[in-house]
Amino acid sequence: MTKENNDKTMTDLRPLFPGLDLSRPIIIAGPCSVESEQQVLETARQLADNGVKIFRGGIWKPRTSPGGFEGIGEVGLPWLKKVKEKTGLLISTEVANKAHVELALNAGVDMVWIGARTSANPFAVQEIADALKESGKDIAVLVKNPVNPDLELWIGAMQRIYNAGIRRIGAIHRGFSTYGKHLYRNMPQWHIPIELQRRYPHLPIICDPSHITGKRELIASVSQQALDMNFDGLIIESHCDPDSAWSDKNQQVTPDVLNVIVNNLVVRDETTSTENLASLRQQIDRINDELLELLAKRMRVTCEIGRYKKEHKMPVIQQSRYNDLMERLVKNGEELGMSAEFIRNILSAIHEESVRQQLEIVNK
Ligand code: PEP
Ligand code: MN
Repeated sequence: MTKENNDKTMTDLRPLFPGLDLSRPIIIAGPCSVESEQQVLETARQLADNGVKIFRGGIWKPRTSPGGFEGIGEVGLPWLKKVKEKTGLLISTEVANKAHVELALNAGVDMVWIGARTSANPFAVQEIADALKESGKDIAVLVKNPVNPDLELWIGAMQRIYNAGIRRIGAIHRGFSTYGKHLYRNMPQWHIPIELQRRYPHLPIICDPSHITGKRELIASVSQQALDMNFDGLIIESHCDPDSAWSDKNQQVTPDVLNVIVNNLVVRDETTSTENLASLRQQIDRINDELLELLAKRMRVTCEIGRYKKEHKMPVIQQSRYNDLMERLVKNGEELGMSAEFIRNILSAIHEESVRQQLEIVNK
C-alpha cells in the first residue's frame, strides 16, 4: 500500500488563528529580519494601520554563507512582544532548534514557522516537535517546504509536528532551490503544493511570494497565481525602509506597497467562472513568465555553442543553418495559426540576441 493511501494524519486540524475573523487571503507580513526596536515597531504600526493582523519577524536567520546577518537573536524578542502590546498584531518568528522554541514561547509568540533549510532536516524538525510537545502550549506552527523539491520530506516535517500534538498546522510554499540564474529566486514548481492540497484538503496553505520571487516587482503576480490556485493566504516580507534592510532587501516592500498589492488581488471563490477576463490575464502572465524562462534557457545553450565555436575557430553566423531553421519554424507556426511574418519577426529578434551573446563570448 502506498504511503498516500495509508496516511490518515492531519485530518483533524484546527483553524490556525481561531480568535481572528480572517477572510481569504490570510495576510502575514513583517520584515525578513528583526533589526531594531524602532524598525519593528514602525513597520508593525504601519501594517496594523493597513489592516494586517499577523506580524512576522525573523529573530534567528539561517544564512547560506557565514558572515551574513544571522539575526539579532533573543534581544529582539521583547521588541516583538512590544509589537503585540502596542498594535494588537499576533506575532510570529522562525525557530530552528529547541532553544529557539523555548525562548519564542516564553516571549509569547502566537505562531512559529520552520524555515526551508530546517524542514529539510528531520533531526532538527523532531527536536522542534519535542520542544513544542514539552511546552504543552497550543500554538500555530507553519512549515515551509524544504529547499529541495521533495513533497514527502515536507509532509514528513508536518507529521512530526502533528505527532507532537499540535493541531494548528499550516504549510508555507516558498519555492525550491535550483542551480543557476532564473527569473525567480526559488522555482515555484506549483504542481508540488497542488499535490499537497490534493492529499490534505484541510491543511491551510500559505504562499510566500517574497522568497519565491526574490524581487519585489514580481510579488503581486505570484500572489495572484497562488490565490488562483486556492491558497489560503500569503506571507509577504514588509519593512518600513526596504532598501536599508539587513537581509533580503530586494524582496521587501513597504507596508503601503503591501497594501496596494493586497487590495489589487482578485479573490475568486470556487463558483466564479474561470473564463473571465482577470483569470485569462493571469494565465497570460504565467505563460509570459514561462516564455521568458524558456528564452533564458535557449540563451544558455546559445552561449554553450558560442564557446564551442570559439574553441573550434568557427564563424558565429552560419547562414544555411539559420535559413533552415527559419523555414521550418515559419511552416510549423503557420500550421499553428500564426502568420509567417510574426514568426519571422520573433525568430529574427531571438537570433539577433543569440548572435550578440555569441559575439561577446568569441571576442572575450
Ligand atoms: C524567511 O522567511 O525569512 C526565510 C529565511 O525563509 P526561507 O526559510 O523560506 O528561506
Ligand atoms: Mn527573508
